[in-house]
Amino acid sequence: HVYTDDEVRQLIKDENVRFLRLMFTDLFGTIKNVEIPISQLDKLLANKIMFDGSSIDGFVRIEESDMYLYPDMSTWLVFPWGAEHGKVARVICEVYTADRKPFAGDPRNNLIRVLDDMKSAGFTDFNIGPEPEFFLFKMDEAGKPTTKLNDQGSYFDMAPMDLGENCRRDIVLELENMGFEIEAAHHEVAPGQHEIDFKYANALEAADNIQTFKLVVKTVARKYGLFATFMPKPLSGINGSGMHINMSLFNKDGNTFYEDGGDLDLSHTAYNFLGGLLKHARNFTAITNPIVNSYKRLVPGFEAPVYVAWSGSNRSPLIRVPNARGVSTRLELRSVDPSANPYLAIAAVLEAGLDGVKADIQPNDSVDRNIYRMDETEREDNNIISLPSTLHNALKYLETDEVLKHSMGDHLYKSFMEAKNLEWDAYRQQVSEWERDQYVEKY
Ligand code: ADP
Ligand code: GLU
Ligand code: MG
Ligand code: MG
Repeated sequence: HVYTDDEVRQLIKDENVRFLRLMFTDLFGTIKNVEIPISQLDKLLANKIMFDGSSIDGFVRIEESDMYLYPDMSTWLVFPWGAEHGKVARVICEVYTADRKPFAGDPRNNLIRVLDDMKSAGFTDFNIGPEPEFFLFKMDEAGKPTTKLNDQGSYFDMAPMDLGENCRRDIVLELENMGFEIEAAHHEVAPGQHEIDFKYANALEAADNIQTFKLVVKTVARKYGLFATFMPKPLSGINGSGMHINMSLFNKDGNTFYEDGGDLDLSHTAYNFLGGLLKHARNFTAITNPIVNSYKRLVPGFEAPVYVAWSGSNRSPLIRVPNARGVSTRLELRSVDPSANPYLAIAAVLEAGLDGVKADIQPNDSVDRNIYRMDETEREDNNIISLPSTLHNALKYLETDEVLKHSMGDHLYKSFMEAKNLEWDAYRQQVSEWERDQYVEKY
């Protein structure tokens, strides 16, 4: 629903809203916001709010720093938590340049552009259902996160009813207050690890939802003296946190992935999309798993994918076709982790899948055996390649892929490569505790 100016004024009165948080997302997926008092509402509605883009990661240089925020009034939302002096509402904005053009370095604008490509290809919606996982850690007296867990629970555990459980329930309630439809919330495999699944939405709304979700999870956790982290692998030796992405492509007649009587009841379009995802999977990993730490999760033994393969039945491969058919027919991509910028990740997988549809790419046969039990020659015989093992390798693959470069556009691609190569360089110069433990005495 796109709120009209009058509706917004009424809501502000009814709910005693005193501040507006104007939100957008930087290159790294971090939410940025400018808060304005309600007296500035007219200026906002007239697209006249300016900010300095040069201080935002991946945006612009000092010389071209004046930028505008255009509110997307379908994202208007009043935060449920009360404030001493009245409530705070948020609206997600599109970033515009000084000469009033959509700014190409805004990841959200970029997703809008890619969705327009999809519409030209005859589709109406790219539906996305994310499954974000996260850890709740205790905080120290100074309010800094520790890596101390506050429970010893595991997958779907009920007892004990601890701080984590109450906190998770509170998160669900707050999200529901904000209009989220929560489908499931449960303890995950690792101690201190949780998952909350909300209903799928079209790509842009889903990406916005992921951003809002993280904000709510972190905010509520703090009330419980806990720190929520979406870092992919905070602790070695136990499961990391993924953010599986369920996806389907709709046209005016509904879900184009479903075909009654097709192989596995999937359509030709579904197989093509799957073919495109598999073809580009290794190359989009830098986007879906963008930090050094992401690659500590993509190792055997912790329910995260390592090999490029798909299956209609087993859970270990990169892409799974969940059992549901009809409107819920979907592909589940299991490599994505919650450190990904959701706008960039969704644009990348959409362009990858659409490439499969346009070029009529057929996927390899499904692999319904446990890939982790195969040896290297068996994998080679089945044409099963691996995901990149480091951020450095992932960046090298991304560099070779024109379809994915197009999914980012020039501006975002260049800033992304620059920033991520710096990140890798900084990391590789560090000497870790593990190395000292292994080598100081031995050599
Ligand atoms: P899993 O079996 O991996 O645990 P879940 O049941 O937890 O999966 O998550 C399913 C997700 O898929 C939910 O977010 C749900 O809304 C979403 N979903 C359902 N139908 C579709 C669809 N047609 N397109 C995209 N996502 C969908
Ligand atoms: N935590 C696992 C991962 O890293 C996923 C567990 C699951 O299947 O939900 O992807
Ligand atoms: Mg899970
Ligand atoms: Mg899943």
